[in-house]
Amino acid sequence: MFRDIIGRKDLIEKIISAVQAGRIPHAQLLWGPAGDQKLPLALAYAQYINCSHKLYAADGHDLNGLSSDACGKCPSCIKFQKLVHPDLHFIYPNNSNGKAAANTSQSLDYIEQWRNLYLSTGGEFSYNEWTDAMGIGNRQAIINVRDCQQIMQCLSLKSSEAAYRVVVIWMIEKLRQIHASILLKTLEEPEPQTVFIVISEDIGQVLPTILSRMQLIKVPRIEDDAMKSYLLDKTGGDQSAAEAVTAQSSGNLLLARQLIENNDLRQNFHQCFADWMRICFRADVAAIYDFSERMSDLGRENLKFFFELCLEEIQGSLLTHNRCTGWIKGGEEQKRFWSNFSDYVSNQNVHKYYQLFNKAIFLINRNIYTQSLIMDTSLDLCRILTETKKKLQNAAYRQA
Ligand SMILES: [Zn+2]
Repeated sequence: MFRDIIGRKDLIEKIISAVQAGRIPHAQLLWGPAGDQKLPLALAYAQYINCSHKLYAADGHDLNGLSSDACGKCPSCIKFQKLVHPDLHFIYPNNSNGKAAANTSQSLDYIEQWRNLYLSTGGEFSYNEWTDAMGIGNRQAIINVRDCQQIMQCLSLKSSEAAYRVVVIWMIEKLRQIHASILLKTLEEPEPQTVFIVISEDIGQVLPTILSRMQLIKVPRIEDDAMKSYLLDKTGGDQSAAEAVTAQSSGNLLLARQLIENNDLRQNFHQCFADWMRICFRADVAAIYDFSERMSDLGRENLKFFFELCLEEIQGSLLTHNRCTGWIKGGEEQKRFWSNFSDYVSNQNVHKYYQLFNKAIFLINRNIYTQSLIMDTSLDLCRILTETKKKLQNAAYRQA
């Protein structure tokens, strides 16, 4: 429901007043960065337009600051909340698992996994968590030709009970050009009482032919105030944890949850980073191999989290290098490490570290084989550290 969305009241009010005015676009595209609740927002919208007992704040209902929302209790609402409404259809990236030939699957094959993941995470999960839930290993998930055909088949039938039939397409950027033509026709000549809600985390990758047929809605990041009060609730009122995580998560709910749930992992990852830098400094290939094996066992989502923390470690070291002590946030142990490592992170070479870790994050999202990714990244780190070591030695030699 709209009242479960964190913050973004202005956007939600705009959506509500459009519905009240009878303006229900046939195809809308919600876009914005990961972790900003686009999918729960799409579902809240679908539920709202179909709710037969909408609630209004003017009638004395407490709707978390909103003027109107779905009731959450009528038969339609209950089916939408469980994701089992017969007029609610989903398309999401998928692929075959096990021994089946790649790309012979369709979204419907994974509807149980989809519902379970949605309901267990409140609808906020990453692409990697989704591919893990399907169990497709390192196969890339895409929106397949069979998905497009299946949805056309569904739409050719009469809707069974809802006022509006809703098709939610998650991560439209995973739709290939050759399959898009099937969808374009229905986007151009809509079926009556049918609404497409399309979601993208990377609008630059969405086919222009799709974009031009959509009403675009930018979903802003979660505001800091709203995030903080959500986190206060999650942490049982721990002010300092809520403030720290709000600052670190930049409005990304996925990241905020990881930071809250994985406080130990976070401490542990700092140690991992320090150990990793030491073995790369020595170019100890055997130790690097062990490290890559150990880290790849963590799974892609944790590994992505690790590389995000690596970026923070580099930032901490750079700030220490530049003596910007007032800006440095971290524990004593971390500060000690940064102070030792800060000789190796300078304004001249910091871009190399950023490029390296950002590339690793990008490749994890592309389902690369993680152990070789860590090996390759380690060897690049060896190179950067050796170069820097030489420069420092030369500088010391010149001074002497
Ligand atoms: Zn209802």
